[in-house]
Amino acid sequence: MKILSINGPIIKADNDGSIRMREMVKVGDLGLIGEVIELQQEHAVIQVYEDTTGVKVNEKVDALKYPLSVTLGPGLLGGIFDGIGRPLKKFSENGFIERGLYPFPLDEDKRYDFITDMKKGDAVSEGMHLGHIIEMSLKHYIMVPPGVTGIIGDIFPGKRKVEDIFCTIELDHGEPLEIRGFHKWPVRKKRPVNERLSMNEPFFTGQRVLDFLFPIPRGGVAAVPGGFGAGKTVLQHSIAKWSNADIIIYVGCGERGNEIAQILEEFPTLKDPRSGRSLMERTIIIANTSNMPVTARESSIYTGITMAEYYRDMGYNVTILADSTSRWAEALRELSSRLEEIPAEEGYPAYLASRLAEYYERAGSFKTLSGKTGSITAIGAVSPQGADFSEPVTQHTKRFVRSFWALDKSLASAKHFPAVSWKISYSEYGEEVVDWWKLNANVDWDSMRTTLAETLQDADKLENIIKIVGFESLPDREKLTVLSSNLIKKGFLQQNSYDPVDSFCLPEKQVKIAQALIYFHSRSAEMMNEGDSFNKINKSEAIDKIQRLKFIPFPSAEFDSTLDEINTELEGKQ
Ligand code: ADP
Ligand code: MG
Repeated sequence: MKILSINGPIIKADNDGSIRMREMVKVGDLGLIGEVIELQQEHAVIQVYEDTTGVKVNEKVDALKYPLSVTLGPGLLGGIFDGIGRPLKKFSENGFIERGLYPFPLDEDKRYDFITDMKKGDAVSEGMHLGHIIEMSLKHYIMVPPGVTGIIGDIFPGKRKVEDIFCTIELDHGEPLEIRGFHKWPVRKKRPVNERLSMNEPFFTGQRVLDFLFPIPRGGVAAVPGGFGAGKTVLQHSIAKWSNADIIIYVGCGERGNEIAQILEEFPTLKDPRSGRSLMERTIIIANTSNMPVTARESSIYTGITMAEYYRDMGYNVTILADSTSRWAEALRELSSRLEEIPAEEGYPAYLASRLAEYYERAGSFKTLSGKTGSITAIGAVSPQGADFSEPVTQHTKRFVRSFWALDKSLASAKHFPAVSWKISYSEYGEEVVDWWKLNANVDWDSMRTTLAETLQDADKLENIIKIVGFESLPDREKLTVLSSNLIKKGFLQQNSYDPVDSFCLPEKQVKIAQALIYFHSRSAEMMNEGDSFNKINKSEAIDKIQRLKFIPFPSAEFDSTLDEINTELEGKQ
C-alpha cells in the first residue's frame, strides 16, 4: 500500500485489500506506528501515533495484522509508558522515543522465579492462575489466556525471563499453546470477567472531604471537574499517593510534562503508609503530555485501563487516574475535525458520549475468570474552559460517573484546599460504604455525615443575611451555626497536601475529628440553652484544639490527650 495524502496525524493510503479495520500499520519509510480507523473500498484512513513531519506521499504502508495492543507482563509496575505502551525509560520534557521504534516494553533480561504447584496433565481453564512470580514484592500471576481450556503439557518452575516459555497447554485441537511471561492485548477490547459484583468496600483516598462527605467504593467512578488552578492535579496526586489501592495507574493525558516529572521525582522517595514500600513500586505512569502527539493521547486512556484490567484479573484493587479527560476529548475533537466528520456540540464528535461511557464502564468490582475479586476504581479530572460545567465533556461525564467532586475556584482562591465544593459535589455511593463504617469503625457514618453537611448548609443559608445585617446582628443560635461550620471547614474539610501529617488522614482519625466537631456543636447548643452566651462559647479553648487535631499524628498519645482536653473543656462548662 502507498500513502495517498497526509493531514497531520491522519493519512490516507490506497486499499489493496490486505488490511482490516482497527489493524495496526507501519507508515512511511520511517515505519511510524498507525491504526486503521476507516476502511473504504478505494482507500484506508489511518491515524498515526507519531509525528508525521517529513513523511511523503507514495511512501509505503505495511499491515501488521494485529490491532493496537499493549504488552502485559511483569515489569510494568514502576514503569513509565507512552500512550501506546512504549517504554519511556528516561522521561524528560522532550523525551520521545525515536520515531518508528517499538522497543519491547518489559525488562527482557530480568530473571524471575516462577513458583507453581501445577504439573503436567493438570486440567486448566481460562483465567486460571498457573503460578506466580514476584514483581516489586507483589504476586504477579501467570494466567491462562481468555478462551483457553486444555491440559498442561509442560510447566517450567524456576528462573525464567519474561520472553521464556513458562508452560505449554495442550488444546483439544491444534498445536499446544505456549504461555510466556507476557502477552499482548488489544487496548480497545475489555478483558473478560466472570461477573460484575456489587461494591461494598470503601475506596479510601485519605482526603477527609472525599472519604467522609462524598465517598466512593472500590470499583466506583468519580469525576474531578475544576477550572485551571482549582487543584485537580494536586488532588489526583494525593489520591495516587495515599489511597488504599493495591496498584495505581496514572494517565497524564495532555497536561504539562513537569507534573509527570514531579511524580517520578517524588514517588520513589515516599512510602505507602500501609505497606511501607516505595510508592513507585505500586505505580504505573502513562505519559502523554501536551507536547506529545494527540493521537497517542486518544489511545492513552485505553492503554491505561487495559493495564488496570490485567492486574484486576490477578485479584488486585487497581485505581486509574486520568488527568485530564478534557485534554483527551480535545484530542478526539482534533482527530474528528481532520477526518471532516460532522461535529456535534462545541465541535466534539457525536461519539464523545459513547467513548466516555465505554471507558468508565470498564471500571467496577468484578469476579475474575479465576474466581477472585478484583476492582478498578476510575477517577477522571475534567478541565472545562472557564470552569463552565455546562460544557459537553463535563455534562457527558456526569452521566457515567456516580460521584462528582467539583472543585470550586473561589475556594481555591481563598486557599481552601482541597477546593471540593460541598454545595455541588455529590456521591451516590452512600449505600455501598455505610456498612463498612458500622462494622469497622462502629459508627453511624450516615448520620454523622448528614450532621456535618447540614451544619454547612445552614451556615451557607445565613451567608446572605450576614452580608446585609452583619454577623453581630445574628441571634446567638445562628452565630453558633456559623462558628461550627467554620470549624468544620478549617478543622475537617481543609487538608494541606504539603503538610507532612495532614496530607493523608486515616478513616479512624476522620471519625475522631468528626465526632469532636459534632460534639462541640451539640454541647455548645446545650450550654446556650442552659444560659451561656455565644461570646462565652466562642472563647472556649476547645475551638483551637479541635482545629489542631488534624495536624497531630494518629494514633498517638498526643492525639488522645488532646481529645480528652477537648471533652473536659466542653463538659466543664456545665
Ligand atoms: P489544576 O490541576 O486544577 O490546574 P493544580 O492541582 O495544579 O490545579 O493546583 C494549583 C495550585 O493550588 C497548586 O500548585 C497548589 O499551590 C495549590 N493546591 C491545590 N491543591 C492543594 C492542596 N490540597 N493543598 C495545598 N495546596 C493546594
Ligand atoms: Mg492540572
